[in-house]
Amino acid sequence: MGRLWLDAKTMRELGHQVVDAIAERLVRPWDATPIIAAASPDELAARLAEPAPEDGRPFDELLRRLDRDVLPFMTRNEHPGYFAYIPGSGTWPSALGDLIASGLNMDVGSWSLSAGPSELELVVLDWFKQWIGYPSHAAGVLTSGGSAANMTALACAREAVVGAMSDRLVVYCADHAHSSVARAARILGFRPDQLRVLPVDERYRMRPDALVHAMDADIRAGREPLFVAAVAGSTSTGAVDPLREIAAICKERGVWLHVDGAYGAFAVLSERGRATLRGLELADSITLDPHKWLYQPFECGCLLVRQGHQLLNAFEIVPDYLRDAKTGVPREVNFADYGMQLSRTSHAIKVWLSVQYFGLAAFREAIDRCIDLAQHAEERIRRSDRLELVSPAALGIVCFRRRTDGSEDEAERTNAHLIRALSRGSIGFVSSTRLRGRFAVRLCVLNHTSRREDVDAVIDHFERAAVDTRAAAPAPVVRHERDARIEEGWLGAPRVDPDVVRSLPLFAELDDRDVERVARIAREVRFPAGAAIVEQWEVGREFYAIVDGTARVFKDGKEIAEMGRGDYFGELAALEWGASFSYPRLATVLATTDVRALVLPGPFFNELVRDAPSVASRIRHTVRERMARA
Ligand SMILES: *Cc1c(COP(=O)(O)O)cnc(C)c1O
Repeated sequence: MGRLWLDAKTMRELGHQVVDAIAERLVRPWDATPIIAAASPDELAARLAEPAPEDGRPFDELLRRLDRDVLPFMTRNEHPGYFAYIPGSGTWPSALGDLIASGLNMDVGSWSLSAGPSELELVVLDWFKQWIGYPSHAAGVLTSGGSAANMTALACAREAVVGAMSDRLVVYCADHAHSSVARAARILGFRPDQLRVLPVDERYRMRPDALVHAMDADIRAGREPLFVAAVAGSTSTGAVDPLREIAAICKERGVWLHVDGAYGAFAVLSERGRATLRGLELADSITLDPHKWLYQPFECGCLLVRQGHQLLNAFEIVPDYLRDAKTGVPREVNFADYGMQLSRTSHAIKVWLSVQYFGLAAFREAIDRCIDLAQHAEERIRRSDRLELVSPAALGIVCFRRRTDGSEDEAERTNAHLIRALSRGSIGFVSSTRLRGRFAVRLCVLNHTSRREDVDAVIDHFERAAVDTRAAAPAPVVRHERDARIEEGWLGAPRVDPDVVRSLPLFAELDDRDVERVARIAREVRFPAGAAIVEQWEVGREFYAIVDGTARVFKDGKEIAEMGRGDYFGELAALEWGASFSYPRLATVLATTDVRALVLPGPFFNELVRDAPSVASRIRHTVRERMARA
């Protein structure tokens, strides 16, 4: 026996030490420590960085080090006042499930090597299918999380619909889709102009009319709509896209409908959640995240595919060195053929253990309570003179902010300050988001530990806490120095006169250096009267500022604005939404006289907004106004 094997007595002893240490941490009083305890990389490196020792050290000494140098520096996810991001609170039986999976080193890739754990995964997937209302021929796979599930879905759809990658394929999502959708597109080789980010309606849901227009414009241009990523519970607001309408649109055009239910899908277990999520079962594929609203410890995600064979077809490859592990018997599922992982732990065992141990009613009750608490928060915000509701409770999320008399910048400073102040204590923890460009405090109730008094304490803080404006000064703007030659974008184009740049109100407060930069990179373009400068639903990233002439703006055929010297447009499509993806054009602009305009390429426009506060604040204001109209 080598030195890495331990006898049973030692295994038990070490195990008891670990279990005792975890239990002790978990049952600490809620106010004993802050919810988050940050530390700088330098500080932690000083505690921890060292080469691996040649000889071993006593286990209890190592546990003490973890207790002193590592464990204090992480958020207390299980804290009842943890309302930031999408919280996660696991259960003890599921944590023990993870211990079993790793203690016995489960590898659930093939039936022949792991029949019991494979069947357990099938059982858990059958539960999920049943809860969602999916048919029995649907298939699924447990993944590391929602991001992996979304990527697996896109790969599956591409294989099922067209096969190999093509430049003509287009993916659609709303601007409130999770960033993992854009990341999946990027990883799978979709270029930024192959992902359409669509505007949302007044309740932050995907607009079916926008989807139809965008798809039709793409079809007219010879492109091929492939995949729509709708969301069932958006991360920012909890909004659920109009799933039935979107499903009908997709069906008519043969487009794959994926519903990202990473945050919200498990709400189907509750009566109200089920009503809110109607239409979920119509999706071609669904992402679920048991490590969110099914109270599993990280990691555990899930992808379900309605036509189960499509998932197998997309991923199955059997090399010679795995032939022995493959039985070919139909019911004997090899999970390695249902996604990108060959070696994979059992995520099912923790789901199975916890659901069996507590019973489904306990989970249903926990989910219901979160929905209740979010509604309670909304009622308190509505009743308060000092708070403003920014988006009402949807599933377990509500967005709001402290009212201020001043500008948008002031509202942002005040509320960001209140969030920071809260996070330093042990009462609660929330995060922020931006809705139509407006800063909002975001409260997401998901933990099974959260109580009414925890929600009340956080709302009290935002109502009453004092704001020290000195501490709330804006973060300094980081300037990026670049080699000027890299910015010589438009080879051979005549250089723009810096005075023309300076004469436009948008650029009036730029310093000389930035005016020079704009003059160097901008291009001066002329359009004859009657020309369409940009057309709605087209793809383009340039930003336009009118130097001379007038233009009219049309949205869905209706005139919505007139523009003249100094006005600008194209900022919504130019601004990056993440991973260099952005909106298509959301309006048509027609020149009514001859128009002379400065044109800025999208990437440079993003740099300018990032570096120049005067431009940033005007653009943010415009975005807020124009998105409110969208
Ligand atoms: C959290 C979340 C994801 C990403 O899931 P991970 O498990 O963190 O990878 C994707 N989509 C939505 C809507 C989410 O809320």
